[in-house]
Amino acid sequence: MALVVVGSIALDTVITPRGRSDNAVGGSATFFSLAAARKTRVGIVGVAGKDFPASAIADFEKMHIDLQGLEIREGKTFRWGGIYRINMKERETLYTDLNVFEHFSPTLPREYRSCRMLFLANIHPALQLRVLDQMENKPLVGLDSMNLWIKTAKATLIEAVKRSDIIIINDEEIIQLTEEQYLADAVLHIQSLGPHTVIVKKGKYGAELFHKKNHAVYPICPEKALVDPTGAGDTFAGGFMGYLDSLNKPIPDFYDYHEAMIYGTVLASFLVESFSTDRLTSLNDEEIKTRLRKFKDRL
Ligand code: AMP
Repeated sequence: MALVVVGSIALDTVITPRGRSDNAVGGSATFFSLAAARKTRVGIVGVAGKDFPASAIADFEKMHIDLQGLEIREGKTFRWGGIYRINMKERETLYTDLNVFEHFSPTLPREYRSCRMLFLANIHPALQLRVLDQMENKPLVGLDSMNLWIKTAKATLIEAVKRSDIIIINDEEIIQLTEEQYLADAVLHIQSLGPHTVIVKKGKYGAELFHKKNHAVYPICPEKALVDPTGAGDTFAGGFMGYLDSLNKPIPDFYDYHEAMIYGTVLASFLVESFSTDRLTSLNDEEIKTRLRKFKDRL
């Protein structure tokens, strides 16, 4: 397998100033794989319940996502509810029902254990470590996390960070995680633990790429009205990792990372135009190409 993602598969209820969406398909592994599949062959490792819609499985299959690692268990799919306030920056979690996710222990199909790239999406860091322990080679490892794990499982998360190459994190989380005061110090702190690349997401202010000693800043790519930002980070990460993998280079250079940032940003800009995965699954290649061209002209 080229690229493997381990993460959540969810049914989300989301309320934003533009409306609401109830029990719609979501989860970090879902958004990531639908984005990455635009560029490469991706395998998904996760668990869903019997209530996970057949139409969502059909969307995965349509994108040629490998489903050997997707377990469908007796019971309900992980459910998450969130509400965004006026400026859509702050998000409040309304509920988290773990359901079948509660006893999830990721087991990688044999074929996945020698993948070229691995993405540890937002799940408990102990599970991220369990995945790393199953690898038979040394893939390029990307890692995402969230404030919940920084608060409740920091030491374990630091262990997972040490074994990763690329950290994708938001500006508040990196400060919480490193306990540094300034972003530049926080990035150096993460790099001193092992990862050579740190991507700091800054919401509506875009993202910054730190690759070894190089640094670049990227704005967001606003085209249409923002409807629902849920999954934007995972979609960005999927586009980013999928693009890097598609280059088929053992060691991508700074220019490759730069192009991957642009591709991830553009895919995320489509995702936020609708609720759930609606826009991500309806997109065509021509639309992506046009927006990529426009975005690059503006940089
Ligand atoms: P993002 O907007 O990138 O933070 O990702 C939102 C997705 O994360 C939603 O689809 C949720 O189902 C999922 N999610 C929320 N809380 C958790 C959690 N504790 N563990 C794993 N996934 C979660």
